[in-house]
Amino acid sequence: MTLLVHGGTVVGPSGTFLGDVLVDGETIAAIGAPGQFSAAEATTVVDATGRYVIPGAIDAHTHMQLPFGGTAASDTFETGTRAAAFGGTTTIIDFAVQRTGEVVQDGLAAWHAKAAGQCYVDYGFHMIVGGVDDDALKAMDQLVADEGITSFKLFMAYPGVFLSDDGQILRAMQVARENGAMIMMHAENGPAIDVLVRQALARGETDPIYHGLTRPPALEAEATSRAIWLASVASDCPLYIVHLSASQALAAVAEARDAGRNVFAETCPQYLYLTLEDQLGAPGFEGAKWVCSTPLRSKHESHQRDLWQGLRTNDLSVVSTDHCPFCMKEQKELGLGDFSKIPNGIGGVEHRVDLLYQGVVDGNISLERWVEIIATTPARMFGLYPRKGIVAPGSDADLVVYDPAGRTQIGVATHHMNMDYSAYEGVETAGRVRTVISRGEVIVDDGVLHGVKGRGRYLRRGLSQYLV
Ligand SMILES: [Zn+2]
Repeated sequence: MTLLVHGGTVVGPSGTFLGDVLVDGETIAAIGAPGQFSAAEATTVVDATGRYVIPGAIDAHTHMQLPFGGTAASDTFETGTRAAAFGGTTTIIDFAVQRTGEVVQDGLAAWHAKAAGQCYVDYGFHMIVGGVDDDALKAMDQLVADEGITSFKLFMAYPGVFLSDDGQILRAMQVARENGAMIMMHAENGPAIDVLVRQALARGETDPIYHGLTRPPALEAEATSRAIWLASVASDCPLYIVHLSASQALAAVAEARDAGRNVFAETCPQYLYLTLEDQLGAPGFEGAKWVCSTPLRSKHESHQRDLWQGLRTNDLSVVSTDHCPFCMKEQKELGLGDFSKIPNGIGGVEHRVDLLYQGVVDGNISLERWVEIIATTPARMFGLYPRKGIVAPGSDADLVVYDPAGRTQIGVATHHMNMDYSAYEGVETAGRVRTVISRGEVIVDDGVLHGVKGRGRYLRRGLSQYLV
């Protein structure tokens, strides 16, 4: 079974060239000059004339079916990975969860049970460790050695559910330093935020915008800096700051990177495009659609400009979605009259490739950098390269044929996520996903689904390939 993608412009992190991609079975067999391979001999031919051929995108931060605040994220592994496929994402890395008081391996088993037989695209897991103790620390070693899980997320927020105190963080970092794993950090000072939340509610400030106003940039910056210093005490344990949104936090990451430290960070499309005033501050309860943590930042400050700059300078290495959708009806509505009860999360797994391509068109990033931050770097960062993240012989044939002349309308009427609203309703982006190929199989073509549920495979990951 061979598949030929011909006539396209292959885009990788280090350049673009006109080339044909020959796929044999599930992997890329060869890349040749235009016309080098016989179309007549291929089982399937995909015409990519005038289009880009990029590696299937990797979303390294999703939360399918995550229980949160008395409800659960509305996308299952089935609906969420289907939406991902439509958007050109052929790999997700989701977060298996150990809450405070639970057993790490039980949490992992629960996540395998949710995902097995459900996914349209390949998937791996990070592990959230919400209860760092002797058993959990031993489990970290076991997951790295046996389960292909090489990254562990800790929280400096959400006391009693996920929060680790500084001592717990340090112990987990010391273990990661020994076994080579990456510590991923939700860097917000939760106990301080909780004080501000109680004070706001006592003043009668209940609207969604107060979710943002009680999580100021200072408390993201403080936590980010604290995590960076704790990692230095743990002999420079590798550290990856998730969903960074504030300029001040970015400055802390940049300083650590300038000093040669193993510190990395991601941001998300919502922080690049949406704001505290225009979305979270929408009238009435409307702003609940955009309640997520870290929160959207003020348009009157320099956050968005700085985040784009960070993507250019590599102080931000990755853009993930933090896909964590909740419907307005019966889910976000749990926070009517009390913003602190609004489930935290925005769905976006379907739109990251298009939203970031808009960044190319707007002149914020180059074409090559687009591919790097949505595919190649996530693969390297989380031990999937060169199997994933690059168009190269021997790599999995995960390919997206992307039409730069197309347009994409984003909205609840057209998206495939299980959400009753869109965080980007009415947005039209330049560019369009045309054909999505996962391990040699066309799973989406011109907006039509061809892949089947359950074809996605669990990916055992190696260690991060960026550590010094
Ligand atoms: Zn998250």
